Amino acid sequence: MRHVIVGGGPAGVTAAETLRKADPAAAITVVCGEGEVPYARMAIPYLLKGDIDEAGTYIRKRPDHFRDLRIELVHARAQAVDTAGRAVGLSNRRSLPYDRLLIATGSRPSRERIPGIDLPGVQTCWTLDDARAILAKARAGTRVVQMGAGFVGCIIMEGLLSRGVDLTILVRSGYMVRRMMNPTASGLIQRWCEAKGVTILTRTQPKGLGANGDELRVDLGEGRSLPADIYLSVVGVDPNLEFLAGSGVEMGHGVVVDANLQTSVPGIYAAGDVAESANVLTGKRELNAIQPNAVEQGRIAALNMAGLPVRFKGGFVFNVLTTLGLASSSFGEWQGVPGGESAEVLDETRYRYLNLQFEGDRLVGANCVGFSEHIGVLRGLIEGRRRLGIWKQRLMDDPSLVMPAYLWTASAA
Ligand SMILES: Cc1cc2nc3c(=O)[nH]c(=O)nc-3n(C[C@H](O)[C@H](O)[C@H](O)COP(=O)(O)OP(=O)(O)OC[C@H]3O[C@@H](n4cnc5c(N)ncnc54)[C@H](O)[C@@H]3O)c2cc1C
Repeated sequence: MRHVIVGGGPAGVTAAETLRKADPAAAITVVCGEGEVPYARMAIPYLLKGDIDEAGTYIRKRPDHFRDLRIELVHARAQAVDTAGRAVGLSNRRSLPYDRLLIATGSRPSRERIPGIDLPGVQTCWTLDDARAILAKARAGTRVVQMGAGFVGCIIMEGLLSRGVDLTILVRSGYMVRRMMNPTASGLIQRWCEAKGVTILTRTQPKGLGANGDELRVDLGEGRSLPADIYLSVVGVDPNLEFLAGSGVEMGHGVVVDANLQTSVPGIYAAGDVAESANVLTGKRELNAIQPNAVEQGRIAALNMAGLPVRFKGGFVFNVLTTLGLASSSFGEWQGVPGGESAEVLDETRYRYLNLQFEGDRLVGANCVGFSEHIGVLRGLIEGRRRLGIWKQRLMDDPSLVMPAYLWTASAA
């Protein structure tokens, strides 16, 4: 059996290792598109901060790890998939035949469509190469203008500030991390960042970028502009699926998969940031671009590829973010559901906030700021769809009682 995995990130690596265990005799090839040893993007913030070196980002630390497992790493880009001929065309002109194929190509930074976006000094923060470029330039006093304050935009701030840069953040909407936090939570995070010396301009989007020697000029319109040494564009991500054009694999926002993580073409599977799979709570298909999801899907796709049918229980929205030391998290239907109820507790001076969303007597979503101790419990209550019974009203009255509520539901189960 020849297994080909396109993508050497957490999903691809987990899949390759799972396949090796499940199918000791199989040929396993991982196509790595960046010319790097497989590494974890989520380690990049620690690299920027200087807590780890590049080797600390590697998914597996032992240099012979893949060779010992007889997993071949091929450094090339997949350019096309011939589903009739069962082969992947690579940028090095090789054609890789497969019996089972896994698409684990992850996502890449979305590109802003403004004049000047290709100028030197414009930077994303997604790959090891991006981190190297930022580290080469970011010094005390370096003027960084960052467009975007989503998950990645927030998580990299600590590394940037630790290098002494002068950081200004532009937020197109009124709210930071608006895909994960309600306005109250977002407002707390903004105030926290401002108190740490970050300038945040909401409802601001550049019209274009210009250059004067090494200096960039960020045009904010109406005669306003900002000077910058680095313009950091972190405005979201898009899945890497262009190489599948013409393959017959069904695509929505990502690669559409069923409960076994198989695509519309038998024998081809998808996992990780690139896969569009069903949400465990809503049943709706969506992308879920977080590492735990990539690892779990890589494992399940591999078992199915090895002929051991296993179903993916469904994705769960669960984001945990630390912004300059302030922990925040969002779960499930954190925006609430039609006809649902909500309760919240806010302590502005201590940057603590908890918002719970209910549907009937079930907790279906939550936003937390500064409440890191409740994360496991909230996840258990929401993902487990536990009925709260008498604890529903108690939580409505005092949302901070999630721990006793969880213990009650566990003993009632
Ligand atoms: C700075 C940063 C911080 C993050 N922090 C967190 C965090 O704290 N928690 C969390 O859960 N998530 C975090 N994430 C997100 C997390 O990194 C991703 O969800 C995770 O990497 C997804 O894994 P993946 O294997 O699906 O995709 P990726 O890790 O993106 O791996 C995909 C691989 O496929 C390769 N590839 C793409 N196209 C091709 C092609 N055509 N041919 C060959 N290879 C190809 C890519 O080069 C890459 O190596 C962070 C991301 C970033 C950038």
